[in-house]
Amino acid sequence: MRAAVLTEFNKDWQIQTLPDPRPAPGQVLIRIHASGMCGTDLHAHHGHLGAKLPIVLGHEPAGEIVELGAGVLDLKVGDRVGVFWNQKGDGRCAVCQAGRPEHCRNAQSWLNLGGANSELMLAWASGCALIPDGLSYELAAPLFCGGYTVMSGLRNGEPKPGERVAVLGMGGLGHLALQLSKAVGLETFAITGQADKKAELKEFGADEVLLSGDDPGAALQAAGGADVILSTTNSAKQIAAAFAGLRPRGRFVNMGVPDGPLTINPNVLMWGQRQLRGSSQDERSDLFETLTLAAAGKVKPKIELYPLARANEVRERLQAGKVRYRAVLQHGG
Ligand SMILES: [Zn+2]
Ligand SMILES: [Zn+2]
Repeated sequence: MRAAVLTEFNKDWQIQTLPDPRPAPGQVLIRIHASGMCGTDLHAHHGHLGAKLPIVLGHEPAGEIVELGAGVLDLKVGDRVGVFWNQKGDGRCAVCQAGRPEHCRNAQSWLNLGGANSELMLAWASGCALIPDGLSYELAAPLFCGGYTVMSGLRNGEPKPGERVAVLGMGGLGHLALQLSKAVGLETFAITGQADKKAELKEFGADEVLLSGDDPGAALQAAGGADVILSTTNSAKQIAAAFAGLRPRGRFVNMGVPDGPLTINPNVLMWGQRQLRGSSQDERSDLFETLTLAAAGKVKPKIELYPLARANEVRERLQAGKVRYRAVLQHGG
């Protein structure tokens, strides 16, 4: 199989031909048709995730099952599937026993089995979700990390009918958070630092687009504040500032990987009983809901498509903040 391989941190990925893997018991082999590139791939590229080299990146896979390992009962050869981050817990620790394998410290992911920037990929059957009919591989791929993550964030923000959601950071995750929040009927503001995105964010459904400038909290306050802020930015400074844009009893849900510690004003936190929450890919039903909304045409990732051979160029484009809004690698067929 052809694959883009990270052999040395911060160096170009090498397009190599590797032996085709075979699925172990409980695993499936997937012919990858599309692989989304996520901001976390940059962290992996720079060596911040502790990946063991060499490794194939890519954790937004969409493809077709071509082989089943022993004991796989529910999936079939020919199934169209994607794979999410934590595919399988160890089954034995307290959180696994409590039915929360997504929080298992020993969970298996693409870091163990290899990722989707490849013609073939192994996955645990328990980490696969069916792609609904009518949803293409290219549009499904970004939902397996980006879409899933922000749908969990939206749910963990516990918006009530009539409340206002603001999405901070308008990249791969943010543009999906905006659409998902609108799709479930909530008033939704977008906060971006890039004025040239304004018209497009309105097309995605934003009720208002606020320019963050140096102080997104002040911008949001001036617009009446938000009950839930879904934050996908990596800027610790922007997060700290935006927190002050919460209405009383508001919830700030952080889904990014900030570039430093979060310094939250304790007065703003206490007076008004505001909350800072963290969220990642959570309940499996969040992914199902995301896929269902996308299949119904209510949410549509805005993607740029590239062949696998251009993976390095795409990574540099992502690093430079030029991708609108998700880059997806295509793998033939
Ligand atoms: Zn990701
Ligand atoms: Zn466990």
